[in-house]
Amino acid sequence: MRFNYRIVFIITGLLFTLSTSLTLINYIDSMDTTRKQLKTASLPLTLDNIYTQIQKQIIEPNLIASVMSNDTFMKDWLAHEESDADQITQYLKSIKDKYQMFTVFLVSEESKNYYSNEGLLEKVSPDNKNNAWYFNFKSKPKESEINIDHNEFMGQSLIMFINHKIYDENNNMIGATGVGLKTSYINDMLKYFRERYSFNVFFVNKQGEVFIAEQGINKLERINLHPEFKVLMSDMVKDEKPLFEYEESGESYLLTKKYVEELDLFLIVEAKVDNFTQSVKEAFYFNIIVYLFITLLITLIVLFYVRNIHATLMALASNDSLTDLPNRRTFFSRFKRLISLKQRNKQKLSLVFFDIDDFKQVNDAQGHDVGDKVLIEIASILKTTIRHTDVVARWGGEEFIILLVDSTLEDAQKTAEQLRKNIENSATLIEHAKQKVTVSLGVTEVRESEDTDSLFKRVDNALYQAKKDGKNCVSIID
Ligand code: GH3
Ligand code: MG
Ligand code: MG
Repeated sequence: MRFNYRIVFIITGLLFTLSTSLTLINYIDSMDTTRKQLKTASLPLTLDNIYTQIQKQIIEPNLIASVMSNDTFMKDWLAHEESDADQITQYLKSIKDKYQMFTVFLVSEESKNYYSNEGLLEKVSPDNKNNAWYFNFKSKPKESEINIDHNEFMGQSLIMFINHKIYDENNNMIGATGVGLKTSYINDMLKYFRERYSFNVFFVNKQGEVFIAEQGINKLERINLHPEFKVLMSDMVKDEKPLFEYEESGESYLLTKKYVEELDLFLIVEAKVDNFTQSVKEAFYFNIIVYLFITLLITLIVLFYVRNIHATLMALASNDSLTDLPNRRTFFSRFKRLISLKQRNKQKLSLVFFDIDDFKQVNDAQGHDVGDKVLIEIASILKTTIRHTDVVARWGGEEFIILLVDSTLEDAQKTAEQLRKNIENSATLIEHAKQKVTVSLGVTEVRESEDTDSLFKRVDNALYQAKKDGKNCVSIID
């Protein structure tokens, strides 16, 4: 029996190993592909996409600011000591309305007046930190710049200012003009990329401070707190490496950057790797569960079949196929066990050996099939006549043997007699054979430490005697 379980165990083990290794290989491969896809496609594409959109948004306002800075009306107006503030306000307002800018402004170097489309707002002063941009800009050689700034007159929303210097004919700076755009479209864009693709997009200056990030998603604090990112930042400024990886509280992040020259900012697209590998992990767990279930199912099926086959084989090997009685081999193994028990328990054992009378005749008259039916019926009568503890077997042909446990010679004689009567009077047998079927029986008791050969010889002799006595009788040898 053990052998069969081993086969089931081996099959289950092999199936399990096969399925888990397949799932594992698939998982590792998918994880790898997802990471690669992220690194080589999703991140760079998103980066380029955002970069292009930003460029598009900047080109037009930059052109307007440039045209304004070269406008002779503006230059004349500044040269003539800013005589009429209404005139310039109208001019700025018309630009604002025509191009739908958020704000349009002009700062005069001479008077330090700050005009917007709403009129004269203030005088810029180096002491006012809100005006620092102007003095910074002035001190730099470049003709234009883009600032992203909060403006106290315009609420606290981020405004992108595109500033151009105005020069007189002697190339002296006489002021600065430009336009301001709300950066809410940037915010929308960042939000879109986060919601649609799970990417964090933000802009960082060269000092590593987050300059533009989606409102409400405050990256600023996190990045300044994160030492590894700070290290990355210095690499990013110098390094031309397109891809960075870092870990934060057990999560791994991949990020890529691009320098946006017009803004003097780094555009950064960052992905939390887990967001992209989540589905791969889920598929892995799902597959494992499915494979386990299938393995279990196959194991059960194999177990069922092996048990069935084993039971069939055991029955074939130990029982007679026609009558389903134990065969001679099985009888002997049980017989030997009981004989050795007898010596220990001092119990009486008796042997009954019987043979169907004139069975040849039954076969000849009614056919072999009927003969078989007779044999089956006799086996059935045999089973109901003796006790469960007794050992019975088909000895061969139309001969049967019974080892009666805990039975003296007299008990055995009674049982044999009962069996003889039951067979003789069986209506079923009469129906099959169209006549009475009878048996002759030999009975003997198992003697103390007797060898098997002499025992079987004696019981065979008893049977022979019964045949000689005219059949359909019991003969005893004491
Ligand atoms: P006796 O009273 O002397 O025993 O006469 P008998 O005809 O029974 O004697 P014998 O031993 O010569 O014949 C036994 C017959 O049993 C011969 C054989 O064909 C038949 N037989 C043995 N096994 C089977 C079986 O499995 N099925 C059938 N139908 N017949 C069987
Ligand atoms: Mg015979
Ligand atoms: Mg016979």
